[in-house]
Amino acid sequence: MTDPAARADTAALAAALDARDPLAAHTSAFVRGGDVVSYLDGNSLGRPLADLPERFAGFVGEDWGSRLIRSWDEQWMRRPYDLGDRIGALVGAAAGQCFVGDSTTVLLYKLVRAAVDAPWMRADERRREIVIDDDNFPTDRFIVEGIAAERGMTIRWIETDPAGGVTLDQVREAVGERTALVLLSHVAYRSGFLADLAGITAAAHEAGALVLWDLCHSAGVIPTELDACGVDLAVGCTYKYLNGGPGSPAFGYVAERLQGELAQPIQGWMGAADVFGMERSYRAAPDLRRFVSGTPPVLATVALEAMVELIERVGMPAVRAKSVALTDFAEAALQQHVLGERPGADTPAVLASPPAGPHRGSHLTVTHPSFAAVNARLWQRGVIPDFRAPDGIRIGLSPLSTTFAEVELGIAALGHELRQAQRVATRSEARPAG
Ligand SMILES: *Cc1c(COP(=O)(O)O)cnc(C)c1O
Repeated sequence: MTDPAARADTAALAAALDARDPLAAHTSAFVRGGDVVSYLDGNSLGRPLADLPERFAGFVGEDWGSRLIRSWDEQWMRRPYDLGDRIGALVGAAAGQCFVGDSTTVLLYKLVRAAVDAPWMRADERRREIVIDDDNFPTDRFIVEGIAAERGMTIRWIETDPAGGVTLDQVREAVGERTALVLLSHVAYRSGFLADLAGITAAAHEAGALVLWDLCHSAGVIPTELDACGVDLAVGCTYKYLNGGPGSPAFGYVAERLQGELAQPIQGWMGAADVFGMERSYRAAPDLRRFVSGTPPVLATVALEAMVELIERVGMPAVRAKSVALTDFAEAALQQHVLGERPGADTPAVLASPPAGPHRGSHLTVTHPSFAAVNARLWQRGVIPDFRAPDGIRIGLSPLSTTFAEVELGIAALGHELRQAQRVATRSEARPAG
């Protein structure tokens, strides 16, 4: 039970951490309106930056409204690659290897197909397996299921501990001469487990396989070294820690050494060697452009660009440092207010995330059978984590927009609602049957 003194302790600690947070000023660069008192879901939909109205006005009035079609030549044709280079710099990719466009789901389809259809994979009839884990995000698993069926391939499932994630040893055991591709999430969407990207990439390569990393829950929050680790392919979301807004396009990464070798299945005019040649037949562009299919969603990159600018100014190491501090603090507050045995409650809430250290990303999951209902009550109070079936409440810590105080307030509210739910459960069990 949290007594008022314990609440005062965690609240005081939060205030002290906010006071000495070097990034504290940036939290007010975001829209903080409405009834929300604690936003703990920036890992699912980042908050908007407060200067977006002016940016959108400039876009509508100038780029679109005044320059009109000329903007395509002046800047929009380059935009997927310019913005791609800047996101690339955040994930350790040199220029010319990242682009923005399509959704994560569609990019996964294109790049998984590109990998398994690589000429040397098709020439080797043994390489008919895709390795993925059974707790990967649904879209990743569903795309692989579809492609395996389409291509007559098999899926090798790594069984993951839902409170942990895929380990290097598990990958070593799963890969071999049958493996064409390993597809894993850098940070597990449920537990927040941060995978050993360097070690797993090397292990897959030793076995002759290609690797595709899903960076949805790490891009913009975890410094990553795609080039230095020799990664082949990657995709990532921009509406999570890159605050691009609902449905903002994903980014893709294709290592330069593979760009001329791989081909993707959605051949469109924007990926053709001569975009305005209006040729009779498709000839793929020689470089990164061949992974693009159609007109880029320029309007949907306005908010994304603003956030990329902010992260460039702050720097990824500082972002990561605050992510670690927020996550460690969230764990301490959970210990105080939510986790462990409670008097009169039979099922304790459990932390289903890795301990502090090199395998922890920027969110935590706590589980309890009451959490679907508890989460609904929290949302009514303006405390916004998210619920992931069957029983997890996920607490996302988006470093640039989140204060320690709102984390403390949200977790104390979670503790309160959990105890309410446990009290109701105890009362209804005590009621005589009939
Ligand atoms: C959020 C997320 C996605 C989302 O895919 P969309 O096509 O943008 O809906 C995919 N994979 C992972 C691991 C995610 O966390």
